Amino acid sequence: MEIKKAEFVTSCASKKTLPEGNFPEVAFVGRSNVGKSSLVNILTNRKKLARVSNTPGRTRLINYFLINEEIYFVDLPGYGYAKVSKEQRKTWGKIIEEYMLNSANLKLVVMLVDSRHEPSEDDILMYKFIKHYKYRVLIVATKSDKLKKNDINKNKKIILDALELEQGDKLLLFSALYKTGKEELVDSIYDEIFH
Ligand code: GDP
Repeated sequence: MEIKKAEFVTSCASKKTLPEGNFPEVAFVGRSNVGKSSLVNILTNRKKLARVSNTPGRTRLINYFLINEEIYFVDLPGYGYAKVSKEQRKTWGKIIEEYMLNSANLKLVVMLVDSRHEPSEDDILMYKFIKHYKYRVLIVATKSDKLKKNDINKNKKIILDALELEQGDKLLLFSALYKTGKEELVDSIYDEIFH
């Protein structure tokens, strides 16, 4: 599958200002700085569709992108950035929670974790949250170009174990730098939604 068209639709702070159109939604979640904006840009072949920020935690809104005029990619605020106040962290948590709890069109959550590190407490909570609400989930381990070949399987296992990944939930490796894993990820997203 190929993403031929990607348009920014809107940014909103809550479900109450939803964009029009009844398209299936794929939500992207992950810690700030995990590489979410870079991944969305690579998937959509657009250099600046999602902003790549040097200030982690800057994107506090839900961003909607219409993909191939048939799917919404929903970019949720990055969580777990240490340098913001507790209040801000709560607000972001609320935005994510409210979105997830009220999304009849949400078909798949793509959850990003850093391939180099053991998943954080926030990552583990997020995975549990997704499973609790019985959404389908795809885990993507980002920045795989930073891994030595020998560490790939070891790090995958660390992630699987820490999240207690359920059978049937896929874990894919991805590098925005080399576009590794791009096709498999786009195909998997389409598979989950349309098959
Ligand atoms: P976000 O906060 O999750 O949206 O993360 P960004 O996409 O803004 O990326 C955070 C930082 O990681 C930026 O400096 C990116 O250039 C870098 N980055 C993102 N993806 C990759 C990757 O696949 N490989 C490498 N080496 N760096 C990456």
